Amino acid sequence: MGFHYYFINAFFTIMRKILFIIALVATVAATAQEVICHRGYWDTDGSAQNSILALIKADSINAWGSEFDVWMTADGTLVVNHDESFQGITIETAKWKQLKNLKLNNGEPLPTLEKMLKCGKKLNTKLIVEMKPHSIKSHEHEAAKKIVNLVKKLKLQERVEYITFSYQGMKWLKELAPEGTPVYYLNGELSPTQLAPLGMAGIDYNIGVMREHPQWIDEAHSLGMKVNVWTVNSLRDMQWCINYGVDFITTNAPEQLQQLLNQ
Ligand code: MG
Repeated sequence: MGFHYYFINAFFTIMRKILFIIALVATVAATAQEVICHRGYWDTDGSAQNSILALIKADSINAWGSEFDVWMTADGTLVVNHDESFQGITIETAKWKQLKNLKLNNGEPLPTLEKMLKCGKKLNTKLIVEMKPHSIKSHEHEAAKKIVNLVKKLKLQERVEYITFSYQGMKWLKELAPEGTPVYYLNGELSPTQLAPLGMAGIDYNIGVMREHPQWIDEAHSLGMKVNVWTVNSLRDMQWCINYGVDFITTNAPEQLQQLLNQ
């Protein structure tokens, strides 16, 4: 009898340990949060927002992803820049030859999307491509097609995620990109329940919007969607996102966020 008892006891002890490990892994998986550099990791010496160097720098600190903004010129060149204009020239209505000799603050030439993606191909960080809402919608549709085709040509489909403020733009990106490519909506007015039927991967909303709608985090998760929040720069906002189980945190201060996540 004693012998039997020993084995039953040992069995339950092992089972308890296995269950504990499973629970631990599940908890870590559920709370794992990823860092995305907003416009690259640009807040460093010699860097600039949306520069090639900022992408390389984001990769160098092992950030999960690095975000950048894309516009298309009137003659169809995809350009990486945040604002609609660069040094007084509106990108959407300009020809590429008007822009190609212009320099960023760090002396780099204004990057094309092709140059950015080719650099990204040599790195590991995910490439978070934000397509800007263009004022002419047919032009934006063209931009979406060109972006998706370029990503395909460079065989970067597995490395790219799309984000956009444009309602029509997100639908185009979803339709054009290969099945399963994550597309997130940035504009903040739609709930996860409203976005789910469109096949969106999740919400990618401003921290102010999320603080007003914290219930959207659980709502998104229950629909199998992810939550990304931007631009999370203060320790207070970072901690809020961590506490609420946000999946991706987009920040200008990626190393501070990494430190906080590693505590
Ligand atoms: Mg952006």
